[in-house]
Amino acid sequence: MDIFAHMTRYGFEQLLVCHDRVSGLKALIAIHSTTLGPALGGCRMYPYADEDDAILDVLRLARGMTYKNAAAGLDLGGGKSVIIGDPRRDKNELVLRAFGRFVQTLGGRYYTAEDSGTSVEDMDVIGRESDYVLGLSTSGSSGDPSPVTALGVWRGMKAAAGMRWGDESLKGRVVALQGAGHVGYSLARHLADEGARLVVADVVAERADRVAREFGAQVVAPDAIHAVTCDILSPNALGATINPKTIPHLKCAIVAGGANNQLEAETDGDELERRGILYVPDYIINAGGVINVADELEGAYNRDRALKRAATIQVNVRRVLELAASEGMPTYRAADRIAEQRMGAIGRLHQMYLPG
Ligand code: NAD
Repeated sequence: MDIFAHMTRYGFEQLLVCHDRVSGLKALIAIHSTTLGPALGGCRMYPYADEDDAILDVLRLARGMTYKNAAAGLDLGGGKSVIIGDPRRDKNELVLRAFGRFVQTLGGRYYTAEDSGTSVEDMDVIGRESDYVLGLSTSGSSGDPSPVTALGVWRGMKAAAGMRWGDESLKGRVVALQGAGHVGYSLARHLADEGARLVVADVVAERADRVAREFGAQVVAPDAIHAVTCDILSPNALGATINPKTIPHLKCAIVAGGANNQLEAETDGDELERRGILYVPDYIINAGGVINVADELEGAYNRDRALKRAATIQVNVRRVLELAASEGMPTYRAADRIAEQRMGAIGRLHQMYLPG
């Protein structure tokens, strides 16, 4: 691939190619933007088929973090890293510490954290070589982000309900949950507490059964959940579940969930709009996780402060949906516009000379 053409097109700052002969480490660190502050984004470990796949993935993910962090009101830019390899086979202390050394060379331009294929324990190992690692297991670190993410998703759903039905209460609303993992389970609790009626599916049957047992949800098969007649469809499993194959079957008024990259392509967002389905942009509603980990940068981590901040996702979602409605644009575009406006406005302040 033509890396510079891609970086020019999407405004990337830096791509660091990391290699360590002895450990066999092959990793990439992408910094999309530091306009608002140091780049923050997790470290993914995955056995990419080839280098181009890994480069495209890290660039796409880093750019996504710029938008997520900006729209969440954080003073952080966007970055991401990938370690090329199978986490079950290729992960070891040396690989992780070698990666940590590379993170350290960036001197705080990039903060790393857990992502798929890496764990809190891995962050502890990376943290032996770098000061720029968040989400360690030691006390004072932010721990499991999922409950904070779920709180944000629940609050964002309420904002969407307000836009759609003029009433933010979810009491009596039917919510179909795709995925009952960390986020899905915590979200189910909030929704059940508010009196929503739940339908749930998970490929791991016990997880769906637990939500049924504890919150009275109805269980359906994983391949049927998107077609359930409901008020809100909530993707909390994989990405790209809103696509040309699933959209014709949707029988919901709102799509709002914690999963990343819910739309397979932007055209799917256009199609939802055309069908009158209100899509709550994923990176706006699922920002609770990054809000949680970013709290570590404010001094000692404070769970209450992180939860309070995640609750403001309700306001953010409202802003995005109102902008989309007033400008007649799809909601995913309104989200991008808000993130870009904030980067333009706040980033400009950094051009002002400060003595000392
Ligand atoms: P998880 O692995 O704990 O849960 C995902 C669940 O989805 C699992 O129980 C899995 O069995 C189920 N699943 C997988 N494929 C499915 C399918 N086809 N149909 C139904 N269920 C299926 O992960 P999580 O931490 O709950 O995260 C869920 C999603 O939210 C992911 O896309 C993640 O990237 C995103 N996200 C998570 C956080 C967080 O704080 N954990 C933050 C932001 C975004």
